[in-house]
Amino acid sequence: MNRGNIEEPRAPTTASEATRRDLWDTVLAELDDVAQRLNLDPGIHAVLRHPERELTVAVPVVMDDGQVKVFTGYRIQHSSVRGPCKGGIRYHPDVSLSEVRALAMLMTWKCAVVNIPYGGAKGGVQCDPRQLSQTELARLTRRFTTQIMPIIGPTRDIPAPDVNTNAQTMAWIVDTISMMQGQTVLASVTGKPIHLGGSAGRVAATGRGVALVTSELLKRQGRGLAETSVAVQGYGNVGSNAATTLHGMGCKIVGVSDVSGGLYNPQGLDIPAINQHVARHPGHLLEGYTEPGATAISNAELLTCETDVLIPAALEHQIRADNAADIRAKMIVEAANGPTTREADAILNARGVIIVPDILANAGGVVVSYLEWVQDLQVLFWEEEEVNQRLRAIMVNSFNQVWEMSQTMAVPMRLGALMLAVDRVATALRSRGIFP
Ligand code: NAD
Repeated sequence: MNRGNIEEPRAPTTASEATRRDLWDTVLAELDDVAQRLNLDPGIHAVLRHPERELTVAVPVVMDDGQVKVFTGYRIQHSSVRGPCKGGIRYHPDVSLSEVRALAMLMTWKCAVVNIPYGGAKGGVQCDPRQLSQTELARLTRRFTTQIMPIIGPTRDIPAPDVNTNAQTMAWIVDTISMMQGQTVLASVTGKPIHLGGSAGRVAATGRGVALVTSELLKRQGRGLAETSVAVQGYGNVGSNAATTLHGMGCKIVGVSDVSGGLYNPQGLDIPAINQHVARHPGHLLEGYTEPGATAISNAELLTCETDVLIPAALEHQIRADNAADIRAKMIVEAANGPTTREADAILNARGVIIVPDILANAGGVVVSYLEWVQDLQVLFWEEEEVNQRLRAIMVNSFNQVWEMSQTMAVPMRLGALMLAVDRVATALRSRGIFP
């Protein structure tokens, strides 16, 4: 299914200021832990603890009523060691320097885990887009773009959509950069409309990537796709594409849910019929769907239902200390960003539940962003089949490398993924040396 905005990896936005400070503290603590395990040189560790560049801008916008409002925006580049920086731009009232900084570092690790030649960045404007008209949003985007223009560009830093931004936002950014430079610069952002240098397969890429790593995990477990049941929390862009792809691969999708509630059918749900229903529903919801053998369940029940694989694909912090012990799935594939709290992670690890971490599981979006940029740079566009083949090769390879790392080091996949990522960035930095 192709619906919803195309997003770069995202993380919590509903968190309080304290939680957002925690996110930066958390990512730093994780880096420190990994640095110790990898016996990282203290100088390299120190470099990685600091974002390379942080830009804060004031964004004045003439509102539709003629008044001027000034918004605050950020673009933070954590690392360009492995290539140009890459990361989304989000519009949200909770956007803060600390949150954007943490998300930029996470992008460095995410790009390194899937071994695409990018560093990490993130940007955002503190605003409530629901209060802004389309013309105000366009003016905000264009002004913000001109203010971060000195540090972005196809070989420097390539933004993409994130929370509350979409293909239209990217089109405004491309147009602004192109007007300022007197030439059309398609490779300056990804997640663009398909008719404006976007890539085939980009919208479904994250869900497809989730399905690909799930199928690799099942291979490692010696388990056939047809004998595997899967439950998916969240039936939006990522969840619906993951469920549809896994269903196509032969898995039994026994549970799905969204903000309107959930459905469970131990015999397997009729995913094509559900997709037709959701496509017709005005809010694109599961609400009102019925089929023989399916029972209505709550979101809480979906998380603890009888299933082999659980795919949280909705919000952050869904699997917590209070429900981790009740989760019956033996495998969890994190399609959402940060769906498992640290406490729940420890409980599940102790119980032997295998978790494919978010930075690997949902990296399909940034992988196809990379493929979009490659197509823009070479001015030659591929059919969806070719994009999907390349996505598959990268996701399968990355899964196997993370798996090997976690087996060799005898650590959970989450730690294995981070170790692989930090090691790749550190190795590149060692080769480059510290300038001058
Ligand atoms: P989306 O808005 O298209 O879908 C979100 C879904 O979650 C909807 O079906 C919504 O009804 C459901 N939902 C909301 N609240 C819920 C609740 N309390 N319980 C159950 N379901 C609920 O968003 P998306 O693009 O599919 O993103 C989903 C997750 O994946 C987010 O965590 C996002 O950060 C992450 N992610 C997305 C991408 C991408 O390319 N879209 C990339 C990386 C990570």
